[in-house]
Amino acid sequence: MKAEWIRATVRDIPLYYNPKVKAVRMDTSTNVLGPNPVLRSVLNDCADMDLNQYPKPYSDGLREALAEFYGLKADNFVVGNGSDEVLDIIFKTFMEAGETVVAPYPSYSLHGFFVKINGGRFMTVDLSDGFRLDPDALLKAKGKIIILCTPNNPTANSFNERDVERVVREHDGPVIVDEAYGEFADRSFMPLVDDYENLIVTRTFSKAYGMAGLRVGYMASNLAMAEQMQKIKIPYSLNRVSERAAIAALQNREYVERTVDLVRREREKLSKGLEALGMRPYPSQSNFVLFRCPVPSSEIVSRLADKGVLIRDFGRQRMLEDCARTTVGTEELNMMLLSKLKEVMEAW
Ligand SMILES: *Cc1c(COP(=O)(O)O)cnc(C)c1O
Repeated sequence: MKAEWIRATVRDIPLYYNPKVKAVRMDTSTNVLGPNPVLRSVLNDCADMDLNQYPKPYSDGLREALAEFYGLKADNFVVGNGSDEVLDIIFKTFMEAGETVVAPYPSYSLHGFFVKINGGRFMTVDLSDGFRLDPDALLKAKGKIIILCTPNNPTANSFNERDVERVVREHDGPVIVDEAYGEFADRSFMPLVDDYENLIVTRTFSKAYGMAGLRVGYMASNLAMAEQMQKIKIPYSLNRVSERAAIAALQNREYVERTVDLVRREREKLSKGLEALGMRPYPSQSNFVLFRCPVPSSEIVSRLADKGVLIRDFGRQRMLEDCARTTVGTEELNMMLLSKLKEVMEAW
């Protein structure tokens, strides 16, 4: 194969994070309470479903359940195979090849991935001190689309809501607010989608809902934008089993509420424990904590992995030097993480 055969805009894209170690996974911010308990009965019922038939092309059942839950219309929603698919749909709908998408840095690496695989240019604007949003810089960059994630991954903080609203109000083009961790935060932009001509909010069943393995995500916007995006989505992309599971998970609040309560309670304790070991944790409104290590984070992460706990190293990224991110676990998981981290630090 000749390198020129590959589209120039995708030639340098690396494979995604795919660790091979066998360890307790505290590196992906998934739900530490295990899979959503509604799945057992739903998956059981699915064995008798007529799975020889296609799903509805636009997953109407889930969109109606979302409409009911949020007090919006089914046609405000587009659902997909993970919120990763809906992010891809947004760029396919609104971004011409060569156009620029602006995002804060550091943030979710897949945002840039979806822009590049769709032929766009990805431009970042650094967050200010304390990982705060810089709305002036985002607006001044004059991209076609702005994408941001609040609470922000991997920094874990929520952005000031007035800063985000200002970006939405003043940008002449679509603004995407990725709320993958929205359930853990105090404030959501979902209720505002009908108030703006340009706001798209994305969410997922992968984190608080404990269904990452089933791949369900969604977005909401005003009806005009949602109609355009619906046309671009690959019909049938969400399978019927996952759709049914998502509807059941949305309607059974107990597990999600228990998850949010646990995370809110445990993340403070975990941060204090990290501090006691000489780490510098940053404030979190998510189900993960970013912390700076007093020694090289890559070494900490690999020595922890040797002891059977995997967290994610960000130490090679600018502004995140010697930073690592861990999921907020249950009390037992956090105690295990802290005691192994203590061993690593003592052996240093
Ligand atoms: C986990 C995550 C997603 C991906 O969600 P899926 O629905 O599993 O595709 C999207 N955005 C951010 C910021 C995430 O951390």
